[in-house]
Amino acid sequence: MENEKNEARPLNFLEKIIEDDLKNGRVPDDKIVTRFPPEPNGYLHIGHIKSICINFGLALKYGGRCHLRLDDTNPAKEETEYIDSIKEDIKWLGFDWGKYEFYASDYYDQLYEIAVRLIKDGKAYVDELSAEEMKEYRGSLTEPGRNSPWRDRSIEENLRLFEEMKAGKYPEGTLTLRAKIDMSSPNINMRDPALYRIKYAHHPRTGDKWCIYPMYDFTHPISDAIEGITHSICTLEFEDHRPAYDWACSIDGIEHTPHQYEFARLNINYLLMSKRKLLYLVNNHLVSGWDDPRMPTISGVRRRGYSPEAMKDFVSRVGVAKVEGVVDYSLMEFCVREDLNKRAKRLMAVLDPIKIVIDNYPDGKVEYFEAEDNPEDENTSKHRIAFSKNLYIEREDFMETPVKGYHRLYPGNEIRLKYAYYITATGVEKDGEGNITAVHCTYDPESRGGTTADGRKVKGTSHWVSADHALVAEVRQYDKLFSAECPGAATGNYLDDLNPDSLKIIPAAYIEEEAGKAKVGDYLQFIRNGYYCVDSRDSSPEHMVFNRTCTLKDSWAKQKAKMGL
Ligand code: ATP
Ligand code: MG
Repeated sequence: MENEKNEARPLNFLEKIIEDDLKNGRVPDDKIVTRFPPEPNGYLHIGHIKSICINFGLALKYGGRCHLRLDDTNPAKEETEYIDSIKEDIKWLGFDWGKYEFYASDYYDQLYEIAVRLIKDGKAYVDELSAEEMKEYRGSLTEPGRNSPWRDRSIEENLRLFEEMKAGKYPEGTLTLRAKIDMSSPNINMRDPALYRIKYAHHPRTGDKWCIYPMYDFTHPISDAIEGITHSICTLEFEDHRPAYDWACSIDGIEHTPHQYEFARLNINYLLMSKRKLLYLVNNHLVSGWDDPRMPTISGVRRRGYSPEAMKDFVSRVGVAKVEGVVDYSLMEFCVREDLNKRAKRLMAVLDPIKIVIDNYPDGKVEYFEAEDNPEDENTSKHRIAFSKNLYIEREDFMETPVKGYHRLYPGNEIRLKYAYYITATGVEKDGEGNITAVHCTYDPESRGGTTADGRKVKGTSHWVSADHALVAEVRQYDKLFSAECPGAATGNYLDDLNPDSLKIIPAAYIEEEAGKAKVGDYLQFIRNGYYCVDSRDSSPEHMVFNRTCTLKDSWAKQKAKMGL
């Protein structure tokens, strides 16, 4: 199916480039090699899904391979927990890097040698300008930069100082190794970019071996070259860095020349996808963790009950382009609903219960009705639902004094209980404060299965559960984490737009017994209430917890209709 869809759409610009390169013999052994290069400084988010699908997807489509490269050049921020989560998330999406798992830190020795070679060739120098001064010397978009006074040291002195930097002789922020390119270049990234900085930090993989670390613009292209990457695909903000990328790939002795291509990053309204901001939410306990079901992280949407197929479908509908844009949140939910409609097991759950007593139904009697697990599936399996004298229906499905046009249960009105019988309300019981505690009804024994001999019609159908059989479970009603389309746009602080109603907990909902069999990773629909899943963190057989994945309301379809689509 996926393939049929891909076949039908026109090639995106990356596919065109690759097909052209393959046709013209520009790809060694006709094997394209891409890489997905996350920095392990946080969990992956929905934006990364786009990058993962592009990089792994192209490799699959053209019979090449995609490397996983952990870009771990910033030792202070990296953690093993992040690396583990990144791997889990890529696997969950169904992609496999096989044996091609690399770390930028694997190349520290080679990078160091290349830096030394650059110094020997007079193409790099040790600078003593402070960060402030360096910024001042760099110039601006309208002004050229100025040469550092340390730019013309002798090669011997540069070699000695760099060696001493590596040996830990200088404090952080004092010396920097810079490429000697061109301080008057119109591209600021070419004005003698820094190659190495001093940093006294323990690295998760290289330990305390190094106290100098290579910069991103130096590390990334050379890592690509070492791994034989053919197409180095990144987001548009790296476009200005491409000359620096090409410079690094053209250093003497570097044999393979990868090329960088940029595409527009995925932005979705109502969501924030900067790891820095997401980390803030986690550290300040504004969410329960990186995998909070409201987080736009891959682990968050997984726990929320989105499937990998729905997310891949979403990303494929968004497409690959070179122009930045903001995608509608409702398109993502549309993809999630389309997918869940096909696969979710239908169950009855009463979230806001009102008790029903069927007076003419025998005490202690239990009957079972059969329900299709998924009416959208021709070969659906079925399950049994217990029916008894005491039931629950949703509070909103009963009104003592009905408003005009109300077709559900009210005294004297007959409705259908889904799969079961027709019932008619006869009266209510109330507590001392006048709140209804139970609705009394009679049932028509001739209406078993929801149809009557005389074929009479009713307008309302309610879902229900048997009070004596229902599973009592916690239900977490999740909604958007931010209530503004562009969080922070109004006040400048995204925290002001946190949605106070993004989580409402129902401590004791009544769900049909069958729900007790649900496992983490199952996709469920509670009829008329929404799509749900078992919470992977907090649910246990003794205390089941269900998360609302999304409501049933299809706002995207409505919006499309409004737009005349
Ligand atoms: P953030 O800005 O959210 O912290 P990042 O770009 O620093 O993200 P990396 O770990 O460096 O995150 O990203 C790994 C890869 O994923 C990069 O190639 C990057 O271009 C890509 N990527 C990051 N965010 C998005 C996005 N929103 N849409 C598409 N690709 C993205
Ligand atoms: Mg980054």
